[in-house]
Amino acid sequence: MTDSYIKERIQSLRNEIEGHATAYYVNDAPTISDAAYDTLVRELKALDQQYPQYADPNFIIYRVGGAPLDVFTKKAHRSKMLSLNDAFSFDEVGEWEMRIKKLIGSTKFTYFCELKMDGLACSLVYEDGVLQSAVTRGDGTTGEDITQNVKTIRSVPLVLHGAHTGLIEVRGEIVMAKSTLLRLNECYTTEGKALLANTRNAAAGSVRQLDPHLTAERSLDFFAWDIAECEEKRFHTHSEKHASLRDFGFTVAPFEQVCASLEEVRSVITMIGEKRDALDYGTDGVVIQVDELQLHQTLGVVGKAPRFALAYKYPAEQATTTVVDISVQVGRTGILTPLAHFVPTKVAGSMVSKATLHNIDQIRRLDIRVGDTVVIQKAGDVIPEVVAVLKNLRPKKTTVFEMPAQCPECGEGIEQRTGSSGEESVGFYCINIECPAKQTRSLTHFVHTMEIYEVGPKIVERLQDEGLITDAADLFTLEISDLAGLERFGAKSAENIIREIQSKKHPPLDRFITALGIMHVGEQTARDLALQFKTFDAFWHATSEELDSIENIGPAVVESVLSFTKSSHANHFIKKLFAAGVSPVPVARTKGGVFEGKTLVLTGTLTTLSREEAKKIIQREGGKVASSVSAKTDYVLVGENPGSKATEAEKLNITILTEQDFLKMV
Ligand code: ZN
Repeated sequence: MTDSYIKERIQSLRNEIEGHATAYYVNDAPTISDAAYDTLVRELKALDQQYPQYADPNFIIYRVGGAPLDVFTKKAHRSKMLSLNDAFSFDEVGEWEMRIKKLIGSTKFTYFCELKMDGLACSLVYEDGVLQSAVTRGDGTTGEDITQNVKTIRSVPLVLHGAHTGLIEVRGEIVMAKSTLLRLNECYTTEGKALLANTRNAAAGSVRQLDPHLTAERSLDFFAWDIAECEEKRFHTHSEKHASLRDFGFTVAPFEQVCASLEEVRSVITMIGEKRDALDYGTDGVVIQVDELQLHQTLGVVGKAPRFALAYKYPAEQATTTVVDISVQVGRTGILTPLAHFVPTKVAGSMVSKATLHNIDQIRRLDIRVGDTVVIQKAGDVIPEVVAVLKNLRPKKTTVFEMPAQCPECGEGIEQRTGSSGEESVGFYCINIECPAKQTRSLTHFVHTMEIYEVGPKIVERLQDEGLITDAADLFTLEISDLAGLERFGAKSAENIIREIQSKKHPPLDRFITALGIMHVGEQTARDLALQFKTFDAFWHATSEELDSIENIGPAVVESVLSFTKSSHANHFIKKLFAAGVSPVPVARTKGGVFEGKTLVLTGTLTTLSREEAKKIIQREGGKVASSVSAKTDYVLVGENPGSKATEAEKLNITILTEQDFLKMV
């Protein structure tokens, strides 16, 4: 390899990695798989090691570094990091405006509204575009130097985008995503470590780890909200600063708006109030400030807080409701988790109908009983929880809740074991190895066959662990609020998952039969059965003679179908599925469609068809739609702004169809 080739390869690898890292960490839209990304990183690291003269020690893949510190050193801020006065009602915002107008004697100014992230404020200083230091807010004058740790945060650029000279100080918030908190707590539960209480404490605690590797493990994020100093550029408004922050390569919080009047501010507050619970980040309000920076000078600072800005705080939402039932769910490991069911009530923007009571200790502590009126809230705006029982409202004749003596799923015995989280709590476990509740595999098969691709095996496990599902039928009664905030379930993916599950309620009969996982009944046999019996009912009540008479179906299949359709477990499951609105539709014999026997993958946005419509056409024409490109793919249908699937198709030499090609064919 020639020198120039190596240099070029290193540079293009860096560009490629940076692009993917930005897509993943900043835009939250990964463009390649983790494994593919890791391969690129490995190649670059190998080259860097071999040719250290070209290596860049500041490049993102080397972010984790530095030995653990003994203690954080204190560092003074270049200018004071102010805190904001709070307003808890819109009247207070109105009073604030009156004071401003009085002071500046003018009404000609605008407001800038932005989401207030709930984390740890931090100042970043860049010299000629390169990160020099990161310091916590501390007392506003002096903070702790957390540079090594902040370097592990992927959304903090080590080098600002673009060319820069002189000093730039950026301020923002270090936060932990709700989904990260849940994921970490899941690990910590298994490892028996103390759990993180909420995202704000978790972010603060993580960034103050003396060992940067520990910080790196916590997957923190950074949202920039101000440029406190910038030697190369003069800003006139706060909104200009936000534009520059984006250009520098920072993420800024979603929802920001320039408002001409307080009325507009009010509608922004209302709008954000409706949407903020769905975000993956903890937020506690809206920062409202005068957009014109010149007026900041005029208005000045009183004490520790500026007059030109205000933090509007949303009230913490709680609600009361009645406990209608306390059920016991069996998790994948067999652990029994009590679950309170309520009269559905709106809390922090979404309907809450149940909450985990975690364990028997929690139940005893609350003394919660069926019939009780309880105060519920969303912990860290994520998981609904019972805060208190209003005992004065307790009806007569309630009974103390006891854990069942038998597993509610299989009827086998229960065993008490000390909790795995290292606390004193006692866990109750079903001892039956074959307990259906533990049988994740059949569930995964069902979900996959039903083409509910949004629900992968990990999500199935997670939902089981959370006690949200015990079998596939439970999926169809899930609500968005059940998922919001769980691992990998940001609001958007929660919505996608629920939408996809609901859209798969009417599968073709053959797919449905395959999904049941009857021994010896694969796709083809299921298709033969579906074509023979036409309706599910006819199939389900088929006699051995009827089954025997079908071509291609041997005695082994007949026997396993019969033993399945007669089993009480399967009948119970089918009943549950149908009660949840699932109903398979008869399949038509499709022979001779243009996509007969072919597999297609869709990518990008189609202009004349929706994805669903395209899928239906493909199926009508005898084809199958797969979600990812593989050697088995026959065609990739490419719309506008196609993703990595199109590139992958090219690599694998798969025929690419444009929307026009596709329409012509069908
Ligand atoms: Zn059991």
